[in-house]
Amino acid sequence: MKILTPPSRGEQAQKVLSWREIKKDAKEMVRLIRTDGFGGRMWKSAYAVGHPQVVTGKCSENDPNCALGRCGHHKRFFVVNRKQAYVAQQFKYDVYINAVIISEVEPVSNREGCMSNEYAGTVNVRRFNKIVVEYYVPGWFGLKKKRGMFTGLASYVWQHELSHFRGEYL
Ligand SMILES: [Zn+2]
Ligand SMILES: [Zn+2]
Repeated sequence: MKILTPPSRGEQAQKVLSWREIKKDAKEMVRLIRTDGFGGRMWKSAYAVGHPQVVTGKCSENDPNCALGRCGHHKRFFVVNRKQAYVAQQFKYDVYINAVIISEVEPVSNREGCMSNEYAGTVNVRRFNKIVVEYYVPGWFGLKKKRGMFTGLASYVWQHELSHFRGEYL
């Protein structure tokens, strides 16, 4: 797993069942996002990247669907770049698993770009300014459930990444 796929529109990512099944990809994604290893692209440093955006460890070179990101190998998790000061301040963990937004208020318009569709540039997207989200992080005894409230830019990062699990891109 190294490279970004193009937007795999309409592809639903699968629920993560254990840390073990995603550990290798997650660690590689964290390493790459922290070192700009997805680089050579317009976005030199990203805040977050979702598993639907990469060629996964389960992907095969011989499967054209894998190169296009629509192979069904993608799971519901994203990683953040905690080398960015703002991200480190807002996100306590590197990896966020099976997240669900349980409340959202204050509709706003936010201008965003996406590593999977850099040619779109930045576009205005409808978001909510304040969300409550439930998610899982790796723990000693399996996936550990967490809940948090996020506002502003941090909440847009969540909403952007979760949209990729539904196969939605800019
Ligand atoms: Zn694949
Ligand atoms: Zn994106």
